[in-house]
Amino acid sequence: MTTKKCPCGKGEMHLKTREKKTCYNGMDLNVESEAYVCACCGIEAGTVVQASQTQRAISDAYRSKAGLLTGADIRRLRMDKGLDHKQLADLLGLCADSVRKWEEGLIQDHVIDRSLRKVLC
Ligand SMILES: [Zn+2]
Repeated sequence: MTTKKCPCGKGEMHLKTREKKTCYNGMDLNVESEAYVCACCGIEAGTVVQASQTQRAISDAYRSKAGLLTGADIRRLRMDKGLDHKQLADLLGLCADSVRKWEEGLIQDHVIDRSLRKVLC
């Protein structure tokens, strides 16, 4: 469904993808975000899935700009090496949940990033 009724009662909300400026950890970022926007009052509403996609986009934009591997980078490099989450975690001496979370948007610190690159690159 690409339209919803707006709570204002006057307009219809249409699904839109916009580039938004945001600031994360002191860094200005441009992130693509998808949400329903009312043509009448301009109110925006997103689903839980859209909110989590936006969070992931912010996380990846931040990581790209900070010189860190993005979630997609980590996943791609891990799969290129034929490793599952646990195998990569074991090489790092960490738990598989951490690997899963970095791939899903949690931002790793620079120390972890260097360890990831040592193992994956
Ligand atoms: Zn409205």
